[in-house]
Amino acid sequence: LSCITARIKLCSNLPVTSNNILELNPLDGASSLRTLSLHGHFSFDDVHHAAKDFGNQYQYYPLAVLRPKSVSDISTTVKHIFQMGPGSKLTIAARGHGHSTQGQSQAHRGVVINMESLRKPEMQINTEKLPYVDVSGGELWINILHESLKYGLAPKSWTDYLHLTVGGTLSNAGVSGQAFRHGPQISNVYELEVVTGKGEVINCSEKQNADLFYGVLGGLGQFGIITRARIALEPAPKMVKWIRVLYSNFLAFTKDQEQLISTKKTFDYIEGFVIINKTGLLNNWRSSFNPQDPLQASQFDSEGKTLFCLEMTKNFNPDDTDMVDQEVESLLSQLSYIPSTLFVSEVSYLDFLDRVHHSEIKLRSNGLWDVPHPWLNLLIPKTRIHDFAEEVFGNILTDTSNGPVLIYPVNSSKWDNRTSAVIPEDDIVYLVAFLSSAMPSSTGTDGIEHILTKNKNILEFCDVRKMGVKQYLAHYTTHDEWKAHFGPRWETFVKRKSTYDPLAILAPGQRIFQKAL
Ligand code: FAD
Repeated sequence: LSCITARIKLCSNLPVTSNNILELNPLDGASSLRTLSLHGHFSFDDVHHAAKDFGNQYQYYPLAVLRPKSVSDISTTVKHIFQMGPGSKLTIAARGHGHSTQGQSQAHRGVVINMESLRKPEMQINTEKLPYVDVSGGELWINILHESLKYGLAPKSWTDYLHLTVGGTLSNAGVSGQAFRHGPQISNVYELEVVTGKGEVINCSEKQNADLFYGVLGGLGQFGIITRARIALEPAPKMVKWIRVLYSNFLAFTKDQEQLISTKKTFDYIEGFVIINKTGLLNNWRSSFNPQDPLQASQFDSEGKTLFCLEMTKNFNPDDTDMVDQEVESLLSQLSYIPSTLFVSEVSYLDFLDRVHHSEIKLRSNGLWDVPHPWLNLLIPKTRIHDFAEEVFGNILTDTSNGPVLIYPVNSSKWDNRTSAVIPEDDIVYLVAFLSSAMPSSTGTDGIEHILTKNKNILEFCDVRKMGVKQYLAHYTTHDEWKAHFGPRWETFVKRKSTYDPLAILAPGQRIFQKAL
């Protein structure tokens, strides 16, 4: 390992300001990139969008943005920079939809590859016994949903929001309320085409170049650029019953969540969220959900309370309405939620999966989408979730007005430990996502400083209490933190880096490795 780390520098405490201008080697100018023969093209002026992401906290301007028209555009560019050798400081970041929150898809004075320009291969759906879709790494999940629904099919595992790219979510994991059953999105991929950090184009799968395949899945963009993915599909339902119920007792809430994800006959999607000190909560739900008991629901007061909402769906087709009602009733009868808080809605499968986009449209119209998003996502072992909840929901957080706080369990057995994604050791792991929005220039409780302090307090609490927590969509600034994040899998991660991206050209925004000079 020491000889590997001598070639790739591990990131130390890099300063993270946009004033951090690198000294440029003459090799690193735009002129050498202009010589490349490509189907697509480079932009050298129109690069500011590539210095932005959803987090709105980090801004690194690249030297150039590549809009590739073919996989060979990507391999030619990577090969060119690789062949410049360690004398060049140029790095490359694939940019999906730029929905990272901490600069992960940026490349300071490097090349950003706008993956959405790569429209090849065109989406191809195979409807055989094990159906799948072949898509470009820059494809948005919403487009895959629209296309696959034409064949009555859909991917099995999702994220809550679909305006994200295949390459972006597969570089992390891709988790939502279906993951308890199907695993994360990285457990539902048959094959990848990848451009490595040397510019080679390699097909990989469980059977072929398996080390690269598993390395790239959850690999934070470190080992290659995903240019094509073969995604598993299943028959798609037409409709879903969408159900919400409330708990005031955390123990009862988690007991029910864990019970639901551990049995075969269960809901198709299981998530949850925390509500602290909200007024008029159930009245707000009425715009899209129907209370089973309207009178009781109208008398329910959430002010000053800490509540836990269990959210579930059951898929169905219009012919099965009676059967699905019975199934839902039977499943609900086993749960111990507050009876007056049962709310049900019926929507199309498409509308359910694309639900966050509806919120996006509203937030955009109020100018509340392009604000800073200091998000914190944690994976917490089942055995520590109660200690965590007691302190975090009881003490550190005094309300949830800055954004949703999701909490739901997944089964670890559905995660493949050959991939690069790391999760805590336990049979059940909770995803807890603090999805805060900060009001620009506010110095109050909705300002970025306040929210970042809360995030820090949560992380420090987990650290002091040795909770065995892992960050999801992790962000660290030191080598030691990354090493601790990967734990026993760190050596494999470093070895894969030296094999597939020995000059540490790829995904510099993750700040794990630094190009050796
Ligand atoms: P980017 O942010 O552009 O890229 C992410 C990283 O992957 C970067 O390091 C980049 O260099 C690298 N990368 C991008 N494309 C490729 C490629 N083709 N090959 C190799 N590396 C690549 N995540 C969940 O798991 N579940 C959720 O429910 C969920 N909900 C979300 C809701 C919203 C509103 C937002 C903004 C994000 C959500 N996410 C969720 C997080 C999301 O998965 C990440 O932001 C992810 O990075 C996808 O975003 P992207 O496609 O824009 O990728």
